[in-house]
Amino acid sequence: MRTPEEILPVLGRLPLARAEVDRGCEARAREGWLEQVWARDEARVLWVSGGRAPVLGGQLVLTRPEGELPDGAVYLGRSTADVAPGTGPRAELILLVSEDHPPLRAGEAGGQPVAEPEDIAWVGLREVAAALTDRDAGVFAEAVAIANWHAVHTHCPQCGTPTDITQSGWVRVCPRDQSQHFPRTDPAIIVTVTDHQDRVLLGNNVAWGPRMYSTLAGFVEPGESLEAAVVREVHEESNLRIHSPVYLGSQPWPFPQSLMLGYTAVTDHPEDAAADREEVAHVRWFTREELAQAVGEGEITLPGSASISRALIEHWFGGALPEPRTLQN
Ligand SMILES: [Zn+2]
Repeated sequence: MRTPEEILPVLGRLPLARAEVDRGCEARAREGWLEQVWARDEARVLWVSGGRAPVLGGQLVLTRPEGELPDGAVYLGRSTADVAPGTGPRAELILLVSEDHPPLRAGEAGGQPVAEPEDIAWVGLREVAAALTDRDAGVFAEAVAIANWHAVHTHCPQCGTPTDITQSGWVRVCPRDQSQHFPRTDPAIIVTVTDHQDRVLLGNNVAWGPRMYSTLAGFVEPGESLEAAVVREVHEESNLRIHSPVYLGSQPWPFPQSLMLGYTAVTDHPEDAAADREEVAHVRWFTREELAQAVGEGEITLPGSASISRALIEHWFGGALPEPRTLQN
C-alpha cells in the first residue's frame, strides 16, 4: 500500500483531503457491525451538532460509548493514530449526530476528567481544519459530509416513503420498494486562469463583500466532463475562452456536499475578461507583485487556508501569501 506522500496531487496535502482513517467499507456492511464496535474498549464517539464538533487543545474530543447505541450512528472507520495515552494505538470511530449530546469530557486520568465540558469549544470544520491533525481533519470532513447527506435524504426519492438506515449508516433502504440510496457528492470545478504573461484572473462574487477575491468555480452539470465544465464556467463567469485545463488536486468541501476539483487553464485573449454581473461582480488580472501588494495592504482578501481556492492561488504564486482577514471559502 502506498503512503499518502506517494499519491499526493500537485497541490499537495490539502487541509480537508487528509484521509488517515481506514473507513472499513467491507466491515461496515456486515449486519450488526456498529453494535459490535460500540461494545469494544477502543471505540470512540465523535459528536457533531449543527456541523460543529467538540475541540479542545487543537484536537477533536472523542468520548467513550455510554449506554445503548443511539439511532442515527454512523461508522467512520479505524484510526491508526493514538486516541489518548494509554488507550492503545488504534481506535474505532463512530459518528453521532445529535442536538442532544451528553456532557463531554476530553479524557480521563486516574478516573478524573482532565477537562470540564465548559472548556470544550464546538467549532466548524472550516474554522479549525487547517490546525487539526491528519486524523482529525479527515474524520471531521467525513463526519460532516455523511451527516449532511442524512439530514436531507430522509425519504425515498422514488416513492416518498421514509427510508431505513443500514450498513452502519452508509446506505438508506426504502421499506416499500427496497430501492437502495447511497451518499451523494456534488462535483464542482475550481480554476486558476492564467495568461501568457503568467498573470492570474480572480473574481469577486456578488454574494461576497467587495474586497473578497477568489478563483472561478462552479458545479459540474449532468452529462458533462470536468474539462467541459471548466471551459463553460470560465466563459460564463468571465467571458474568457480557455484551453489546456490541467488537473491539480481535489478535496471534499462538505458545505453541504461538494467535492472541489482544482484546475489551472490558459487564455490567449486576457483582454476579453468581463464579469457576468450575475454571479461575479468583478474580474481582475493580477501579477504576483500586484497580488502580494493588494493582499498585504488589505485592499483585497483571499479565501481561507482550509480552501482549495487558497491552495490554487498559492500554487500559482509560488508560495504562501499573507493570511486573509476573513475565513470565507
Ligand atoms: Zn421507495
